[in-house]
Amino acid sequence: MFLDKLQANVSEQYPLLLANCRVFLDFDNTMTISDVLSDLILDHSIDKDWIELEDLWRRGRIGARECLRGQLKKVRIGKKDFDQFLSEVKLDEGIFELLSFLDQKGIKPVVLSDNFLPVVDRILDHHGIRDIKIYANGLRSFGDRLIPSFPYYNPQCPSCAHCKKTHVVSDRADEGPVIYIGDGRSDFCPANASDLVFAKDTLAEYLEQKESDFLRYENLKEVADYFKNWMYFI
Ligand SMILES: [Mg+2]
Repeated sequence: MFLDKLQANVSEQYPLLLANCRVFLDFDNTMTISDVLSDLILDHSIDKDWIELEDLWRRGRIGARECLRGQLKKVRIGKKDFDQFLSEVKLDEGIFELLSFLDQKGIKPVVLSDNFLPVVDRILDHHGIRDIKIYANGLRSFGDRLIPSFPYYNPQCPSCAHCKKTHVVSDRADEGPVIYIGDGRSDFCPANASDLVFAKDTLAEYLEQKESDFLRYENLKEVADYFKNWMYFI
């Protein structure tokens, strides 16, 4: 419905008016150009057990929490290497234009990640992105070990480590439409609960399969352009 309305406006060359809208972004492979967590596990695991866990998770045999717990158990990375790894992560260049546009409009986007808070926070900080609300899993370092925690795990929806949907759903009457930008499996639930979804990769395939409306994107510059050209925020 929402996308129909937006597309009708686009065809008439008239932007859609949006009031009190909320914007949510996934992190890995959405704000970044790679899957940071997968790269960390791939590069720093002491064995290949992570492959079987990944496979079990992809086939829905275990949840993401169990998968991440098992995979991180085998990761060894000291502080210096961890800092180096985080400093080398590249963002999708379009994020700066998108965040700057949202800031001009007084919209405060929220990052929802199945990665870990210190990881997301430090990567964004390294790129000068501060004062942005982030919800993610917890992580502590102990020597060269990484110990995860899952404060947003929802036992009613055990397939995800972080139940992103809980942040998206709101029963406040004064809140407007939800715009969601993502790429992966952990974005399925929140995308289903959003009014307008920008999707790529696995998320786009999923939404296509269930014949849900969404806007396909390849990079965040396209998303920023869409916001600038076709949405008018009041
Ligand atoms: Mg992702």
